[in-house]
Amino acid sequence: MNYRDILENIRLAFPQPTSDPIHDSYFVHSIMRALDQVDALKTHLPMLGSIVSADFEEARQTALPDAMSSVEDVTAELIGYLRGMTIFGHPRTQQNVIPPTTIPSVIGVLIASLYNPNIAWDEYSHLVALAEVEVVGMTAKMVGYDTEKASGVFTFGGTGTTLYGVKLGLEKASPGTMQNGTPEEAVVFVSDAGHYCATNIVGWLGMGTNNLVTIPTTYENEIDLSQLETAVREALTNGKKIAAIIATLGTTDAFGLDDLESIVALRDTLVDEFQLDYRPHIHADAVIGWAWSVFNNYDIEKNTLGFRPRTVRALAGACRRIRHLSLADSVGIDFHKTGFTPYISSLVLVKDQEDLNLVKRHPEQMPYLYHFGEHRPGMYTLETSRAGTGPLAALANLRLFGEQGLQVILGHIVEMTQLLREHLEGHAGTTVLNRDNFGTVTLFRAYPEGVDTFSIKRHEFEDAAYRESLLAHNAYNQEIFQYVHSEAMEGRGVVISTTDCYRQTNYGEPILALKSYILSPFVDETDVESVVAKVLEARSAVAGNSTCATASHK
Ligand SMILES: *Cc1c(COP(=O)(O)O)cnc(C)c1O
Repeated sequence: MNYRDILENIRLAFPQPTSDPIHDSYFVHSIMRALDQVDALKTHLPMLGSIVSADFEEARQTALPDAMSSVEDVTAELIGYLRGMTIFGHPRTQQNVIPPTTIPSVIGVLIASLYNPNIAWDEYSHLVALAEVEVVGMTAKMVGYDTEKASGVFTFGGTGTTLYGVKLGLEKASPGTMQNGTPEEAVVFVSDAGHYCATNIVGWLGMGTNNLVTIPTTYENEIDLSQLETAVREALTNGKKIAAIIATLGTTDAFGLDDLESIVALRDTLVDEFQLDYRPHIHADAVIGWAWSVFNNYDIEKNTLGFRPRTVRALAGACRRIRHLSLADSVGIDFHKTGFTPYISSLVLVKDQEDLNLVKRHPEQMPYLYHFGEHRPGMYTLETSRAGTGPLAALANLRLFGEQGLQVILGHIVEMTQLLREHLEGHAGTTVLNRDNFGTVTLFRAYPEGVDTFSIKRHEFEDAAYRESLLAHNAYNQEIFQYVHSEAMEGRGVVISTTDCYRQTNYGEPILALKSYILSPFVDETDVESVVAKVLEARSAVAGNSTCATASHK
């Protein structure tokens, strides 16, 4: 066969470069058929099709096919890979911080994928580069930054946003590390409820994980300020350089919010006291919490959107910390968490755009790029190529929702979370662990008949004499989870998850928790009621066949 014949087929598999309405409708039709096939996988269950076990061993033996396939065949094959996927928008999915994605954000990803802008440089992305800057502008205003001075770039995930924060801070504390390498005396502080990406970052930056100082958290899952102060003072006294203090605003498991205002005040005091010639960088890891800034100006008293009093209280509780985001030197934002976009859509904002010069390269190092054009973030970004997908998805949702839409969607899922807690607390056998954290994640435990859930929580947390009881109840809750999970897979009840260690006890044991993460706007009252009903049912079922139920609990 002459290659030209095959080339014809290849050309048909691309969108046509010039207008061709017939081929356009073929393209659209191909997408529609793909969506039809996905639709055929939907049942009443919170997943697509059924769960197929994956043979990773066999997968490694996969080889490139000999010959061309067709758009239709490849599409059908790709859809097959969605079997078993959780439907994150399903009202019976409360699994983790993974949002359902809106239609406009998916279209943003689609068009950026179709025309493939590279936002490293406006020459390769034109107005898509502008979209990135508009999102920077909008979110900088949302968190309260001065938009004259602030800047930001999209990067490869929430991890990337924290990496930027720490890298900028490292350059401030030890100028010239870009050229000379990382000095040994640079340290980073984060709470023990902060994200593990901090460990990765100090490792990959060459600072070393031994130079990450982890500060314990309070019962409210916030960094312990007095222990932070002690640790920072000690570091300074020992001649260490503080590359960054990471404040977590919205911890992953519990939605703990560090007291950023006090952390900044502490930093400022120590700069004076120790006569530092640099200002230790404070990065706010707000990849989850940033969205709550839409409530900064919500009138709690008027409550025009009509949230329940408990919801309003929860929103106010979160805002009392979120409203200080503008005090941080940089802020990490994940639209792919609380912004309802597809992965990856992460933005790091910097309060002062001058900071980005600290990581800028010389033009001679990039001879084939950036000769002209007025917008060249590729001069300082870690990445070279950067997709337009993240910024267009983010822009789509910010425009779609506006402030009020975000207030409504967040307000609703906070309301559902509060309702869930009300129900959990209304039963003697269940108790909420992160009652003082006001997000949309609820950590809770079930206890066997006869355990006083009012006191057990505190005892197990504080008192090493309760070690055995704690561990037995960890196992008990694991069993409860197994029951709830297998029921959910059969279409009864709700998909929740567990965390093996939402935090440690004072005596160093992991506390396992059942976890409900509500992020779907489709979740409603009956769905949260069914979580509780299912957990209570699990309690009876587990009591029948478990030794844990009778384990010692003093
Ligand atoms: C999810 C998360 C991260 C990591 O973000 P990715 O987008 O997954 O890279 C960092 N910090 C916190 C608090 C998170 O919840």
